[in-house]
Amino acid sequence: MPGLENNTPGADFLRSLGFPTLDVHEAFTHFDFTTPGRRVLVIGPMGSGKTEFAARIWRDASVARRKSSVIGSLTSTGSVDRRNVFFIRSEIDGARFTDYPEDAMAYRSGYISCGGNIARIRDSFGFEQVLKDNPDVGTYIIDEASFFDERLAYVARNYAIERGCMFVFPTLILNFRREFFNSTARLMLDIATDVIPLTAYCEHPDCLASAFYTYRYYRVDGRECPALYFDPLIVVGGDKVRNSSLEPDYEARCEQHHYLPGKEYTFFTLKPLGERAGRGDVKPLLDELRALHRDPEHSLLFANLLQRYGSDGIYLNSVLPGHIAEKALSYLFCEQNLIGEPLLVRLVSELGLDTAYLEKVLSDNRHPVSFSQPYLL
Ligand SMILES: [Zn+2]
Repeated sequence: MPGLENNTPGADFLRSLGFPTLDVHEAFTHFDFTTPGRRVLVIGPMGSGKTEFAARIWRDASVARRKSSVIGSLTSTGSVDRRNVFFIRSEIDGARFTDYPEDAMAYRSGYISCGGNIARIRDSFGFEQVLKDNPDVGTYIIDEASFFDERLAYVARNYAIERGCMFVFPTLILNFRREFFNSTARLMLDIATDVIPLTAYCEHPDCLASAFYTYRYYRVDGRECPALYFDPLIVVGGDKVRNSSLEPDYEARCEQHHYLPGKEYTFFTLKPLGERAGRGDVKPLLDELRALHRDPEHSLLFANLLQRYGSDGIYLNSVLPGHIAEKALSYLFCEQNLIGEPLLVRLVSELGLDTAYLEKVLSDNRHPVSFSQPYLL
């Protein structure tokens, strides 16, 4: 679609993610079921209407199916007809929409009953089975594809090329750090032919700009506390009402209101301290962790925030939720692999950190550690 890229809001943003060779479309009112083999990424922050967009494809397909066989020949390749739409979501996503029927594709303002054309899968192998079981289906909508294994991206691409099927992927692609959600998210870009960027209004009360980003924050005594850059990548929520300093909340935010304090500190200070500790020079890291734990205002982190942001309260609020030492250690252990388990256990015990919190965070981030086992130090 020549000329569209340059005028599309957010084109620069998409280019910065590595989208330059893709056609960037405006969202349109009626879906094209005639072009075979497309892999369409529908991206945007939470609340941008990704699933609603998928529901629109579903409704468009039902209109297209009522047309004559002339249309059928345009929308079919071999045995598949792209007007036959199938919805796929994760097995572990059941908790999200407990108020809806089993066959519902649910979005904010309603849902669509998919009847038999819906399946829950665990991984890319389950995905392949669904493809095999439905030889007439021509359009698959895979919800939150980034949550599955990387292999799914290639299964979809190969099947699209071989069979002429179309795949639509409404998915988060960036995490709260404004980085790729994971390696599957990155691969989705490689295999996509089209991208449809959706935005929400920025949810900051003083703003009506377009939001591209998902913002993570905590609420402490009514105050908004942005998550630090090294906050754990994955936080699995428990209760529906989040009011604690341990469970974050999320909003769609524009660039200006997406506060992300501590990124410079993470690479400038925290990571080098972890590297030194990994080589046996533990004391500097221990000192900083002790400050983060007992007296954050005298930590190198706080000094860096002050230097970077002055007294702008919103950034300094990021130390209020606490558990900063636990989060810093989790980052060094799970994401940077700079400290081993024995050193982790030793630091946790020496500083008297919250082992219950750490056990949950480390397990959520696929590096489970038990602190109840006795260790010989
Ligand atoms: Zn804003």
